[in-house]
Amino acid sequence: MPTSPAAPSDPSPPRPSRRAVGRSALVGMIALIVVALMAWSIYARALQMTFGDLRERGENTLRLAEASLRGQLARFERLPGLLAEERAVRSLLLAPGDQALVGLANLYLRETARRLGASDIYVMSRDGLTLAASNFDQPHSFVGGNFAFRPYFRDAINGGEGRFFALGTTSNKRGYYFGAPVDVGGIVRGVLVIKIDLDEIEMAWASNDLRIVVMDPEGIVFLSNRPDWLFRALAPLGPDEARRTRETRRYANAEVGVVQAVWSEAQGGFSLLQATADGTETEYLLTQAEMADAGWTVIVLSPTAGARQQALLVVAALLLGLGAVGFAGLIVWLRRRQLAERIALQAATQAQLERRVVERTAELAAVNSALRQEVEERIATEARLRDTQAELVQAGKLAALGQMSAALSHEFNQPLAAARNYAENAGVYLERGQVAEAERNIGHIIGMIERMGRISRHLRNFARKPHQKLRGVSVAAVVQEAQDLLGWRLAQAGAELIVEIEPVDLCVTAGAVRLQQVLVNLLTNALDATEDAADRRLHLSARRQGDMALLCLRDHGPGVPDQVLARIFDPFFSTKGVGKGLGLGLSISYNIVRDFGGTLEVRNPPEGGAEFVLRLRAAEADTPSAEAAE
Ligand code: ADP
Repeated sequence: MPTSPAAPSDPSPPRPSRRAVGRSALVGMIALIVVALMAWSIYARALQMTFGDLRERGENTLRLAEASLRGQLARFERLPGLLAEERAVRSLLLAPGDQALVGLANLYLRETARRLGASDIYVMSRDGLTLAASNFDQPHSFVGGNFAFRPYFRDAINGGEGRFFALGTTSNKRGYYFGAPVDVGGIVRGVLVIKIDLDEIEMAWASNDLRIVVMDPEGIVFLSNRPDWLFRALAPLGPDEARRTRETRRYANAEVGVVQAVWSEAQGGFSLLQATADGTETEYLLTQAEMADAGWTVIVLSPTAGARQQALLVVAALLLGLGAVGFAGLIVWLRRRQLAERIALQAATQAQLERRVVERTAELAAVNSALRQEVEERIATEARLRDTQAELVQAGKLAALGQMSAALSHEFNQPLAAARNYAENAGVYLERGQVAEAERNIGHIIGMIERMGRISRHLRNFARKPHQKLRGVSVAAVVQEAQDLLGWRLAQAGAELIVEIEPVDLCVTAGAVRLQQVLVNLLTNALDATEDAADRRLHLSARRQGDMALLCLRDHGPGVPDQVLARIFDPFFSTKGVGKGLGLGLSISYNIVRDFGGTLEVRNPPEGGAEFVLRLRAAEADTPSAEAAE
């Protein structure tokens, strides 16, 4: 039975509704937002960690940078005071105009500077004029130069320690200046200055990614491991700072610029600086230390790109892991859902199957009960049929009995009545003395009695014993006997019996007398049928056919009509008029032949007439005494 896919019994899973799809989209969006927030918070935490590492490294670098700076300064810190005690210096300041003393001082200073590794050492008079210098013989000699504007001079001349970092106005080289007052006899007569070079330190800081800078008190970078930020402030200078820088001519004629940078603070207290140089923007994490005695700030700037990348990597790894776990979870969930769907489908199919089984069982039960009912009806009908049959048989029997009684009473009453008439007439003839007449009548009476005797013999055949022993009977002998019996009839009818027996000694399994009776019957019928026929020849042929023997009797009469053919072997069926036939001949013959194990059939051959075919089992010849024994 075809079922449409939309049938309500269809167990396929339902399609998700539009509402369900909307709900899934909302859940997906919320999940996305949660994942994004998670990723952001993981990123923030990872960034704090990587920034922490970066700051730690920066602090280490800072400590090293600061230590190297301090070490360098400490090396020269006490030296100006010591050199100020030297005779050559003191003598020069006592007689500043003495050229010999100047010459001596120059040589002394040059030698000392070489030994100490200082950039320059020079002596200034009270008014700031340089009297002698270690570079007296150099092109940019300080001798004759006045540096009264430098703070280190002012501090020293006032009895203190002069410290200053600046770009040399004469040499145009950066240097750190240590100034010490030269006290001769309780009077400060001048200042001794040592200028040291910090280029070496700067070179030692060389690094590709890190920036190490040192800022002066005004916020201007004067030391840097990369030259592009030199003499630049990391934030725009205020008016005070600008004025002080100008007054002290710290950077001589060099132009002080500003690094394009934005300061910010990240979560976790990290100071960040976003600097733009050559069009590229770089973010740095700052670590800084104050060198209070020098008034400097040492800053280590570590680029954050690597740390950010690392944090991103952490996030990516975590997200990947999360994705993998999510994916695995999704697969498990899908599998479980598939399994659940399959189980549901199976359950639905099972339910459908069970429903169908129940339906089919009900149908079968209905069919069964209908069949039972039919069988019962059949049984009842059969019983009715049997009853009817029995009734019919009974009725048939009665009818046959009636028919037979009527025929018999007719067959017997007629000769009896005739015999009575003949007897009465014979009596009358005897009274009259007409003996001859009386004798003729008595002859008629005897004829009547013989006829009745024949009828009764026929009737006796019904009570024959069918299981009498059979023997081999010669066909030729039986035919001859029948011919003898019917000789007068044949002659009377003017009929001719043509006999052909092949082989002549052909024998059949039968009883001789009964077979003769059958032949007489058939011959009598043939004679009756050909009574009015032009051709009165009768053909009797016998031949062997395998184990059987075929006996055919053919006449040239009218043949057997179709309606007669069906009933010809029925008892008491006769077309002959009353008194002529009992309708028992063929019926008795049929039964006799059947007792012999043979068959008797009738047919109308195409050339006309009727033909009776006797089929009997062939046998060996038997003794004549056996035939007589029947
Ligand atoms: P009966 O000879 O007493 O009528 P049968 O049983 O011998 O009874 O024959 C039954 C009927 O068969 C006959 O009445 C006749 O109509 C038909 N019949 C028998 N032999 C022949 C024959 N050779 N040709 C035509 N009809 C025949």
